[in-house]
Amino acid sequence: MTNLRKDFFQLENQHPVVLGRACDKLLTVEWRTWLPSVTRNALEGLGYAKMSESTWQMIAAYATAANTLLPWTDPISFGSVCTAFMGNIPNFKQFDHLKLYEMMVGVECLRLIQQIPFGTDVKKFIAANAKFEELEYLPDPLTFCMPFLCRPMYKCNECGNVDYDDLVDGQCDLCSGRYEEGVLRDGPAPGLEDRGKDITRFDEYEYAHIATRFGSLKSLSKDNVSLNLNKTDVQVGRLLASEYVRREFRSRFDTLIREIL
Ligand SMILES: [Zn+2]
Repeated sequence: MTNLRKDFFQLENQHPVVLGRACDKLLTVEWRTWLPSVTRNALEGLGYAKMSESTWQMIAAYATAANTLLPWTDPISFGSVCTAFMGNIPNFKQFDHLKLYEMMVGVECLRLIQQIPFGTDVKKFIAANAKFEELEYLPDPLTFCMPFLCRPMYKCNECGNVDYDDLVDGQCDLCSGRYEEGVLRDGPAPGLEDRGKDITRFDEYEYAHIATRFGSLKSLSKDNVSLNLNKTDVQVGRLLASEYVRREFRSRFDTLIREIL
């Protein structure tokens, strides 16, 4: 480890998880709780020259994600680490929405740091950002948020009620009398236990064509992708642009991590 090249922290196109792991090796995991100035001094003391603000943002985000569970449970913390993983400075005064590529890179980096399921609030936040970008489909590694972007629904074939599918027992809310004067009860009303079981489930909208088109184009090299000027391809083009950024970060990781193993 002592032979890690002295300009390692100054390389252009660094990767946050590689930088963090380099600090783990050089300083032991203790550094994750240090003040940034202490970490800075320790690295400089080992002969590593000054690094850019962008690199510091990546290192700080790694420390947050390695130390706490907040990025998995709190949308604001998730947003800040996603911004910082890209080497940008999070704006704590005015919270901007995240771009698709920031969330894709962010989730991938977080999974490299800790394997923790994301909480509902963060999933909803990711879906809300996608909606803001007018996206109808979330590719990997964000597909797990799809139920919050394109919500599951049901139609009751008994009464015709169409509603979001948050049913715990698969029975139509209206037919089973689950709401009494607008108040939600725990189960079907007495005498209505068997009602409303004939339901058809469906998604809020169709997105299979987008997923399929994206899936068929993402494995092609950029030069071989040709898109049409229709609604599907406009969206697929935006998904691809984010996928290329995600891949660029993944390839940085795969290359750079070898230097610190
Ligand atoms: Zn019904």
